[in-house]
Amino acid sequence: MSEYQMIINGQKVASDATFPVINPATEEVAAQCPKATEAHLDQAVAAARAAFPAWSARPGAERGAIIHEIGKAIEEHQAELVSLLTLEQGKPGTGFAGMGAAFEIGGTLAWCHAAADLELPVEVIQDNDEARIEVHRKPLGVVGSITPWNFPLMIAIWHVMPALRSGNTVVLKPSEYTPLTTLRFAEIINDLLPPGVFNVVTGDGGLGAAMTNHPDINKIVFTGSTATGKKIMQNASVNLKRLTLELGGNDAAIVLPDVDVAAIAPKVFATAMFNNGQTCAALKRLYVHEDIYEEMCDALVALANSVTTADGSTDPDFGPVQNKAQFAKVCAMADEARASGARFLTGGEPMPGPGYFYPVTIVADIDDDTRLVREEPFGPILPVMKFSDVEDALRRANDSPSGLGGSVWSGDPQKAAALASRLECGTAWVNTHAMIQPDAPFGGSKESGIGVEFGRYGLEEYTNIQTVYISKT
Ligand code: NAD
Repeated sequence: MSEYQMIINGQKVASDATFPVINPATEEVAAQCPKATEAHLDQAVAAARAAFPAWSARPGAERGAIIHEIGKAIEEHQAELVSLLTLEQGKPGTGFAGMGAAFEIGGTLAWCHAAADLELPVEVIQDNDEARIEVHRKPLGVVGSITPWNFPLMIAIWHVMPALRSGNTVVLKPSEYTPLTTLRFAEIINDLLPPGVFNVVTGDGGLGAAMTNHPDINKIVFTGSTATGKKIMQNASVNLKRLTLELGGNDAAIVLPDVDVAAIAPKVFATAMFNNGQTCAALKRLYVHEDIYEEMCDALVALANSVTTADGSTDPDFGPVQNKAQFAKVCAMADEARASGARFLTGGEPMPGPGYFYPVTIVADIDDDTRLVREEPFGPILPVMKFSDVEDALRRANDSPSGLGGSVWSGDPQKAAALASRLECGTAWVNTHAMIQPDAPFGGSKESGIGVEFGRYGLEEYTNIQTVYISKT
């Protein structure tokens, strides 16, 4: 079994205590991971604090060049990182529609190189006989990054690279379910960065809470559940930490009667089942017009019955649900839906173990008040609801505390865009869903989060504005 160590101030650091990381396909221990103490956290924060003045003083282009080197290092270790991701997260290497572990590592490369090339130029808002007024963007200091288990490395890159590019130093805590790929990544790139600029500590939510309470961390960037996001916001008040919170979603899609069902069903299916449904902005509530309801259900069932779910190391379409608690949640939500009278068109029962395997499941004729519709299942199960009036569909889509993404599907993109703009969410898609890219801002409205990631807008979240007023009189 490989040894995994934390990275603090450029050094590999073990801990007296460890915790097991479970392979979700076998339920066997994949590796032991160091459990950080509060002293480890203090050391990491102190190292990041000490590294900040020199790192932030470097020209931005130099930091960008190092981030490009990090991207190249990931590329050189791509195959190893893909296998490690499958081992701890469960996702297959290639997977359905090529959206497995290799897709995630490919995404880390794309976002790394894009972050490297971002700039925050000084803006001159006045330059006349009276004064010159400039707006500068200054790094915040030490950024604490807390990541989830669904896309462990890609989300780490989303947090860390803009933080570094804008001149901050970082302490990262990966999910206790999936720390291995992040630890190996930190080891691979350790020589490329000055000691203390990027530190990784490992542990559970208690360590995360200690980060959010830490007086010497200036910002928390967090991706995970809304419940944890609320706790982080409370703790962050200790020193008015800046926050970017990317929280849960329960995205609705509205399918109008003028679509070509055969053409869109594979796209709807792929965006609902992306990463086995364990994606914050996956399509999670499907509202279909009554004229095409049965045809859409039949098309989705045919797709569901054509895919394989198995140990990710054998490269099926889908792997297991990532952890036992999430698996239990998916099973319970399905059971409650069945008990409420919903019609299960395919799937609906856990597969024989070992491993947290649940088949792709399509549920029809389900009431909007069922937990499977009201809460995100974060698993391979899609509720399909019927509507007759589009205004009613819009009202039901918006009747949610979540507001991450949403979509409208139609043969008339202009009509669909007008309707999509009335969805209460951070990203409104037309004839697609869950499409993100490094230069388009991404974030949630309502309880799906605060702030955005990606591109210039995302980079600005790692800075404070300093207005420089030069009097000429
Ligand atoms: P979580 O919010 O419990 O954990 C995410 C991260 O936060 C982990 O690193 C965890 O250790 C840390 N954490 C836990 N408690 C903390 C605290 N009090 N303070 C600071 N950090 C803390 O989420 P989870 O257990 O990984 O998943 C639970 C639910 O979250 C899922 O059912 C799903 O709905 C949602 N989820 C959303 C996303 C997303 O991308 N939006 C990703 C993963 C999970």
